[in-house]
Amino acid sequence: MKPVLLRGGRVIDPASGRDEVADVLLAAGKVEAVGQALGTPDDADIIDATGRVVAPGFIDLHTHLREPGQEDLETIATGAASAVAGGFTAICAMPNTDPVCDNQGVVGFVVSQAEHAGMARVYPIGAVSLGQKGQQMAEFGELVGAGAVAVSDDGHPVMSSHLMRTALEYARVFGIPVADHCEEKSLAEGGAMHEGIVSTRLGLKGIPSAAEEIMVARDIILAELTGGHVHLCHMSTRGSVELIRRAKDKGLRVTAEACPHHFTLTHEACEGYNTNAKMNPPLREEADREAICQALRDGTIDAIATDHAPHHYDAKEREFDQAPNGIIGLETAFPLANAELVARGILTLPQLVDRMSTVPARIFGLPGGSLGKGAPADVVILDPDVAWTVEPSAFRSKSRNTPFGGRSVRGRAVATIVRGQVVFRLS
Ligand SMILES: [Zn+2]
Repeated sequence: MKPVLLRGGRVIDPASGRDEVADVLLAAGKVEAVGQALGTPDDADIIDATGRVVAPGFIDLHTHLREPGQEDLETIATGAASAVAGGFTAICAMPNTDPVCDNQGVVGFVVSQAEHAGMARVYPIGAVSLGQKGQQMAEFGELVGAGAVAVSDDGHPVMSSHLMRTALEYARVFGIPVADHCEEKSLAEGGAMHEGIVSTRLGLKGIPSAAEEIMVARDIILAELTGGHVHLCHMSTRGSVELIRRAKDKGLRVTAEACPHHFTLTHEACEGYNTNAKMNPPLREEADREAICQALRDGTIDAIATDHAPHHYDAKEREFDQAPNGIIGLETAFPLANAELVARGILTLPQLVDRMSTVPARIFGLPGGSLGKGAPADVVILDPDVAWTVEPSAFRSKSRNTPFGGRSVRGRAVATIVRGQVVFRLS
């Protein structure tokens, strides 16, 4: 494998605090050196990064690939290709596939399909419970042994507090977090969007913020009881932010993520029964959106994750209350976050790289998120200033379900390098 020299970019490395124009030399799949006017090895490929940002590749803690089971929506290969087109060098695959990723066979399958694809790294997340049925706990040791980096029943909450307690205790033994989809089902039942003025106007049953917050509170209490690490998925309400803030003040092992749609859109996006604005948790109110932005700024919410959830065009064409939840997000995450958070002065660009790369690596204990010597050669080159319009037909993902088609955004990945190999270049 040839060395690669990235010359003259603005190198942002939150792990070391570096933010300066420098060269980055990658060799043998690792970061070899970062510095001024590095010499060029004879056989190196040289990429001119002048005017661009060079940063550790983004890491997504929350991706739904549909393989095994629904390969017409997304495969591990197309999801991994979509990832690198969005600047992600690693993604964590949620286990709600068919069959569910609740045993070493499926974990091993995900790992080997990802190796074949050779694009982004794909880390499997194992299920908390067998079949994600919320009853019998999966064998965490087996899952971790095969390559799982966390456990989650995402798509579903872990409703049983006893199961959640036991899962936190076992996960702690294996040094992994339990990532929870926080939803109190009896409150959320039958709801199609956020419960508020828009749901009333549209005549749709709503999901109150309390459905999320009750489970956030429970998970925090159980994290305190067990000493386990709970990771709270896709936080959407101002009440959740308050609960997490208090938990962190107490020093509990609680981490949290937020998705671009929750800091970009509100329930107003559901007007006109727009099924591409239907997600779970639902888009909330402006005060919630603002609280999520503030929480990303002050670190109450640690990381940005996509909740990339491919669906078929036909499925989203159904009536609002019948349509499936979720949107794809790998190719829009950085441009949305850059436009909504950096251009508006909520985060600096180094802080955004931190929330999308360095912090996610730390939360799940993954390689990457750093440009230190010896770190994996997983790098993104960004043009942070280019203005462009989201065009879903150009996505590498197999699916097109997004409410952001036609939206003006700012910044994008122009090249993505994984294991020292250029796996994406914007043409
Ligand atoms: Zn979820």
